[in-house]
Amino acid sequence: MSGPNTEYDPVEVATLSAEALDAARDDALAAIDGAADLEELKAVRLAHTGDRSPLALANREIGALPPQARKEAGQRVGRARGAVAQALARRTEVLEAEHEERMLATETVDVTLPTDRLPAGARHPVTTGAELVADIFVAMGWEVAEGPVVEAEWLNFDALNLGPDHPARTMQDTFWTEPAEHHLVLRTQTSPVQARTMLTRRPPIYVVSPGRVFRTDEYDATHSPMFHQVEGLAVDRGISMAHLKGTLDHFATAMFGEGITTRFRPSYFPFTEPSAEVDLVCFVCRGAGTDPDSDGARPCRTCRGEGWIEWGGCGVVNPRVLRACGVDDEEFTGFAFGMGIDRSLMFRHGIEDLRDLFEGDVRFTTTFGSEL
Ligand SMILES: [Zn+2]
Repeated sequence: MSGPNTEYDPVEVATLSAEALDAARDDALAAIDGAADLEELKAVRLAHTGDRSPLALANREIGALPPQARKEAGQRVGRARGAVAQALARRTEVLEAEHEERMLATETVDVTLPTDRLPAGARHPVTTGAELVADIFVAMGWEVAEGPVVEAEWLNFDALNLGPDHPARTMQDTFWTEPAEHHLVLRTQTSPVQARTMLTRRPPIYVVSPGRVFRTDEYDATHSPMFHQVEGLAVDRGISMAHLKGTLDHFATAMFGEGITTRFRPSYFPFTEPSAEVDLVCFVCRGAGTDPDSDGARPCRTCRGEGWIEWGGCGVVNPRVLRACGVDDEEFTGFAFGMGIDRSLMFRHGIEDLRDLFEGDVRFTTTFGSEL
């Protein structure tokens, strides 16, 4: 068919009949009312107002009507679409309000509830252990001295009477830094701090130096290439081995409890003469050598039945060391000692594996760090 359609054709415009439009509108309104939430309403909106919805199709068909029929049909479609749009707007408002209310109810934060999202931290047990040692000596009027961990070879060895041929200078024990001609090492002991102290001030000297030291050791339950030492040095007039013994007994008691004292066994260190190994009364069996829980039947596991535990080394400062550091060895004498801080902590807390101290597990750190 060509030309404008001037005939009223009831078949082609069935969707524009009052009944069809009312039915489409009522369907839409019922669906809108029935939408339980915004998600459902979105689907309803698409089905009843979208391009392929009955009302949209009806709207498109208005153009196909003869001009005289368009006005009425247009008004009818417009009313139906208007009613649907209004119902949609009202339902949207209601559902949005409900949604907001639900969100407020479910997302309420009760600020009065207890929380452990920021558990209390703890300082590292080695740090607090070193401070405990320092405190014991500061209370006796000593000073705390520190030095660099990368140290001059001369201060780490020569000044301490460790001649060039001493076994401790070989590559097996020492971390050397490059280039070799700079003669720098990672300090193998905190003793160079003592040499530095003697070189920079005159006696009387009473210093303790806690700190990190490095040796090319294996890394296992009792060894580590990095560990912590505390060394002490006293240089004054009339200092003797008796002062050393008294000082270490006090140190042991302050660290491990009443009744825990020391004994000396003859030994050799290049920087002291005479030298001694320091043993500690076993703080588990208190020197008895037997397991306190076994009524004396089993040997103590901590000291292996000895009643004593190795703790460190000490001695009267070798006059050669005093001279090398510019101290008049006619006027002054001194004593020196050195203990492992990590080892002392292992004793004190029954820690069985040295590696626990260095591997940074916060459960370990928190437990022991808070206790000290
Ligand atoms: Zn014991």
